Amino acid sequence: MKFLEVKNLCKEYGNINAVDGVDFFINKKEIFGLLGPNGAGKSTIIGMIIGLINLTKGEIIFEETNNKINGWKENIGLVPQDFALYWDLSAEENIKFFCSLYGFKGEELNRRVERALEFVGLSSVRKKISGQFSGGMKRRLNMACAIAHTPKLIIMDEPTVGIDPQSRNHILNSVKQLRNEGSTIIYTSHYMEEVDDICDRIAIMDHGKIIAEGNSEYLKSLVSDQNIYSITINNKSCDVLECLNSITGVEKVVVNDNEIKCSYLKESNVIEQIVSNLSKRNIIIENIKNETPSLETVFLSLTGKKLRD
Ligand code: ADP
Ligand code: MG
Repeated sequence: MKFLEVKNLCKEYGNINAVDGVDFFINKKEIFGLLGPNGAGKSTIIGMIIGLINLTKGEIIFEETNNKINGWKENIGLVPQDFALYWDLSAEENIKFFCSLYGFKGEELNRRVERALEFVGLSSVRKKISGQFSGGMKRRLNMACAIAHTPKLIIMDEPTVGIDPQSRNHILNSVKQLRNEGSTIIYTSHYMEEVDDICDRIAIMDHGKIIAEGNSEYLKSLVSDQNIYSITINNKSCDVLECLNSITGVEKVVVNDNEIKCSYLKESNVIEQIVSNLSKRNIIIENIKNETPSLETVFLSLTGKKLRD
């Protein structure tokens, strides 16, 4: 069953089309991923869904409430991209404050704070001032503050930026657990591996538009005829692009410093040509490895760009 539907959503800032005619729906109890590079329009979509940003055009329909968000906002929990924490309050006090805004008090409030602390793995540092936390702990606390009131819809905007692997794993597992406990989740990220790992359905965005949508298997099937060579060279030459693009079977080439990503049709035998073209230009290949299709391949194939620079 549908939880939320977005139709022809648009946001213009002057002459910037931050969100440019976006359509998608989210089913109940699924993790819906918005995957795209910085500036794609993910946070703007989130802002419009929660009613913080006025939309220029389009519709946002909450199936459960006949399209009304007012009076229903307490059913949403937002984990914003920028921390929303009081740095001079402890972890416990932060959660208590945010949860109390939803009307919880006394024993019920304490129980919820307790559970949220435990859920994000911060019980042992509950009394510590949040300003002294590591990046990963701040991210986890940011999440605890958004979920203590058990919202039906949890929106997480790039919740794993700048954190240690342990906190990242903790957050990713927590998101899956929240879904398994019955929440519906919108998860935005520019890390394709984690979106691939946890999301039930994914919309890939670029320049304010959705360029592909579906589950991970479907998205990868769009490029099932392609693989990527990931090549490291030791000196950059301005004509790398041109010298690889001219090879029959090569689809898209992206060069970032000494790293080249080159998608090619599986049936074609392009490796010899790649090596010979590069050597002819005195470019030394330090490493070359074959990658099977991932969401990165999908993005590269659809946009001719890398998802992450
Ligand atoms: P993402 O979250 O995917 O990184 P954003 O939604 O933050 O992308 O931004 C989408 C585009 O809209 C970007 O080009 C950004 O610079 C622009 N933008 C976002 N907020 C504003 C604003 N308040 N005023 C003008 N431009 C904005
Ligand atoms: Mg953003």
